[in-house]
Amino acid sequence: MRKEPYPSLTISWRIGVAHYETDRAFEDLLDQVRACREWLDELAFFETLTHHLYLPLDALASRAAVLGRRIQAVRAEGIGRVGINILTTVGHINEAWDSMPALPFQPMVGHDGSVSRGCACPNTPGLREYVREKYSLFAEAGPDFIWVDDDIRMNNHGVAWACFCPTCLRMVSERLGVDMDRGALLAAMDDPDRGDVRAAWIAHNADTIDSLMAHVSAAVRAVNPGIAMGLMTAGPGDLYCGAELPRWLRSLGATKLRPGGGFYADTTPGAMIEKAFDVGRGSRVVRDMREIADIQYELENFPYQKLGKSATALISECTLALAMGCNGVALNMLPMWGGPFDDIGAFLDRLPAARAVWERLVDDAAGLPTAGLWPAWHAKLQARRPVRVGESWLGSMGEHGTSVPYVLSGIGVPLSVEPWDGVGPPVYGTVLGGRAAEGFTDDELRVLLSGGVLMDTATLEILSARGLGELTGVRVARRIDNGAMEQLTEDALNGGYAGQIRDARIEFWGNAQGKADILEARADGVRVLANTHDYFRRCHGPCLSVYENELGGRVAVMGYAPWMFLHSVSKRAQLLNIADWITGEGLPVRVEEPVALVPFVRMAEDRSRAVVVLLNAGLDPIDRATVRIRLAGSERVDEVGGLAAWETTVLRTE
Ligand SMILES: [Zn+2]
Repeated sequence: MRKEPYPSLTISWRIGVAHYETDRAFEDLLDQVRACREWLDELAFFETLTHHLYLPLDALASRAAVLGRRIQAVRAEGIGRVGINILTTVGHINEAWDSMPALPFQPMVGHDGSVSRGCACPNTPGLREYVREKYSLFAEAGPDFIWVDDDIRMNNHGVAWACFCPTCLRMVSERLGVDMDRGALLAAMDDPDRGDVRAAWIAHNADTIDSLMAHVSAAVRAVNPGIAMGLMTAGPGDLYCGAELPRWLRSLGATKLRPGGGFYADTTPGAMIEKAFDVGRGSRVVRDMREIADIQYELENFPYQKLGKSATALISECTLALAMGCNGVALNMLPMWGGPFDDIGAFLDRLPAARAVWERLVDDAAGLPTAGLWPAWHAKLQARRPVRVGESWLGSMGEHGTSVPYVLSGIGVPLSVEPWDGVGPPVYGTVLGGRAAEGFTDDELRVLLSGGVLMDTATLEILSARGLGELTGVRVARRIDNGAMEQLTEDALNGGYAGQIRDARIEFWGNAQGKADILEARADGVRVLANTHDYFRRCHGPCLSVYENELGGRVAVMGYAPWMFLHSVSKRAQLLNIADWITGEGLPVRVEEPVALVPFVRMAEDRSRAVVVLLNAGLDPIDRATVRIRLAGSERVDEVGGLAAWETTVLRTE
């Protein structure tokens, strides 16, 4: 169902400074806007050119005055909503530092003592006053809305992990009740016994962002409480700041969200799938916040060159984002230094037809949750995860493993962004990869393990150390880190593929620890689906098990190369059968033929209806595929065909 006051689909266009600063450039832009009137809902003007924070307020005042006139002119063209996208609130990265004016505030300081050239600490009074005046200026320009861009984070500011400036050190010391300098803090962060310091640091980051959002909101509200506010996030990296998105949105008084993620070029088209899941996670987090009516996907092909990304990819990535919960698209694709518009023509030509598809998709999918296995993650993962002896807490920030399950979508396993909290029957299963399990309490893990779970042995080791291993039915008996492959057993879940071998050459890709773990059963009823062999065909023991535990949960443990090279016909069939078995034959969609179709499923909880977006994630056209949509009490079978490389198609059950 639609949420007011926005229509079901919004297509917005983000406009750089070079397209409006001079009258000539603005006239060219207006010509373009008129040509796009058929499908364009909204315009958002950037206030600055670079990701460097600082420009003097008098320069910004001049720009705000220009923007005030431009906003009026665009409204006169009949564009319903016109706003401003504040690119820099604290600054994004180090950029153009020799030509841009130096920061007159405390810069961000990294964990290693490095000092940002372009980004300021959010916690000092000087910066706060600048932010207040800056947002006031642009609020006075009369926009319908103001976006706060995704520099609202505490990492990747030209320094890796911020902020260790004197102000922030004092604030954290007060929180902890003891004075700590940067060296003492870093030592404590890597001390296995100092979880309190790590939790305090994440809480400090979360509070920093929260108070900055409240500050921005107050500045804008003081000028005009009617201006709609929107927040952009940097995506999964927000774990360093506690991922408290709902709280930050409330403090900002936001009604708009642009969840983050990255997909930039045709050289890695698969990144559009990962970004779709990342933005899906962000969209899911705010599903119960009725005030967040407008969730825009940012279409980006930075630095906006035609041959960087095909029109097909640009259209498909938006379709996937809408399938995963967004209901708008923000086009970020104009050339950075004004017209001509040669670099975007092919894409613009396809937008009228795309808009019709997107409008119907958003309308039909509204109110339907995503359906499939849930790659588990927890907002408090970085705050809760233990530090192992010799490990750097900040240095291992990328090892969460919450996105490794995305690879399963490439073999046709539907993935969702729906967490299961143990209330009601477990509709779909959970995927636990890498260190994601460390974000959950024992009770939360028990809940997950009472449903279907697909996991790797990194997860098994975490569960075993916490006394939950018996719920998996197995333990790691020993580890092999070279010369290992797996052979499928005669188990019924292997279909007709018993005896087939998967050889991932595990030592090719760096440290292979955990990629060839031998499992042993610790309970009756454990089924072995694959054994590890060496290259002399000697069997070293089981590497893939399934087990139904005392809670009724069906658990699969993958000891061999769990997240790589799953794309053979036999492995695909096996994993689809496992995914189906752990969910009680409950996968919402199954694609019969082994083709590169990636399903994105929205299905009613009672399985009364569904909308399914299918992406051809290969370079061969898909001439024919059989798609089974499993509704309550019936199966609907669709034949899909004529799908070109990286194109999408939409199925609906009514
Ligand atoms: Zn600071």
